[in-house]
Amino acid sequence: MSSRTVIRGGLVITASDEIHADVLIEDGRIAALAASGTPAAGALTAERTLDATGKYVIPGGVDAHTHMELPFGGTFASDTFETGTRAAAWGGTTTIVDFAVQSVGRSLREGLDAWHAKAEGTCAVDYGFHMIVSDVNPETLKEMDLLIEEGVTSFKQFMAYPGVFYSDDGQILRAMQRSAGNGGLIMMHAENGIAIDVLVEQALARGETGPRYHGEVRKALLEAEATHRAIRLAQVAGAPLYVVHVSATEAVAELIRARDEGLNVFGETCPQYLFLSTDNLAEPDFEGAKYVCSTPLRPREHQAHLWKGLRTNDLQVVSTDHCPFCFTGQKELGRGDFSKIPNGLPGVENRMDLLHQAVLDGHISRRRWIEIACATPARMFGLYPKKGTIAPGADADVVIYDPHAEQVMSAGTHHMNVDYSAYEGKRVTGRVETVLSRGEPVITEREYTGRAGHGAYLPRSTCQYLT
Ligand SMILES: [Zn+2]
Repeated sequence: MSSRTVIRGGLVITASDEIHADVLIEDGRIAALAASGTPAAGALTAERTLDATGKYVIPGGVDAHTHMELPFGGTFASDTFETGTRAAAWGGTTTIVDFAVQSVGRSLREGLDAWHAKAEGTCAVDYGFHMIVSDVNPETLKEMDLLIEEGVTSFKQFMAYPGVFYSDDGQILRAMQRSAGNGGLIMMHAENGIAIDVLVEQALARGETGPRYHGEVRKALLEAEATHRAIRLAQVAGAPLYVVHVSATEAVAELIRARDEGLNVFGETCPQYLFLSTDNLAEPDFEGAKYVCSTPLRPREHQAHLWKGLRTNDLQVVSTDHCPFCFTGQKELGRGDFSKIPNGLPGVENRMDLLHQAVLDGHISRRRWIEIACATPARMFGLYPKKGTIAPGADADVVIYDPHAEQVMSAGTHHMNVDYSAYEGKRVTGRVETVLSRGEPVITEREYTGRAGHGAYLPRSTCQYLT
């Protein structure tokens, strides 16, 4: 059975083009584009027509960094795959790549199976997995090859969180050497966790227990030092490297230097580092706990360097690191000891809108918006051009975006399963109107019309972004 939809009259924006075109969708894929108002466009016929006059028609967002239901700090991230992917759709994101977790002493397989079980049959939009490697040993190195064959082609390691996810330099080097051979991409949480733990202990001993000290002990220099070390270990291994959630100017400088040397080194930042700062961490009455994440928010001055990095392609991707914990009952676990505040912020629903606001604020161009939020994450993680663009043959993951609508971000109106918004009260211009996932309407003129279980698992190919 064929089902055809045509989207008429919108401005189609991809990473490379802005064209007034009608878009024909057939059987869940983009079938054709034709310049609006031409006979070719008139000849596109379909059972269903969506009017996008005065609107943008953009690829669905690809959020390559989410943590639905992540166990952390004695609790779980509050969005399930069901609630989190629904919220993603509301925010114009139609693909997430989440992180399956290997527990220390267990196999990668066991961790991946557990994450498949959580996600299967519950997602509103499509999803893939990276694998967090917490325990590098001969068996897990072999398992990396197998996972790549089944579409889990990227592996996250942590230089932070000793005793939890932490890998030492030798373990990191071994995993990088393996990925140099098997085509995997190592994703690094680059912070010197051993040194940070010393500073945490010293701060607590001085009675510095509030959320703002989370930002003070996790020093920019310790992000930069770890970033540098990760880059050089990758260079020694001959492997590419993707540094997650870059927040400090000094870390961006390390990436710039490595890229100027011609290395396959990439950097991701997140909306919280672009729009929030240590001012938020310092909010009184423990409110700062809402903004505790790692890497931490930085002083405002860092933001300009992140925007510049995004413009010059020294940073390539904006993901959310969506990892929500409710203020009540979860963030509160760290009252009196900031080191016990679960690390993470909600954001999967806000990313596309915040980055559109950045277009209006003059930080990035419209095409760069689509590039950093859709096309490059798809290329980086082996999903392009199935995801990340609007072109014949691509999945019909399409957002009709109203660039003039105004909205106020708020926990009162968002769809993420968390009791606060990191952007409470923020006014932005631009709003998702309609969202298609493989041609199926998930959001229809600001109403949820999707269903749990529509979202399918996405096996991925290896990185398509290497020089
Ligand atoms: Zn993360």
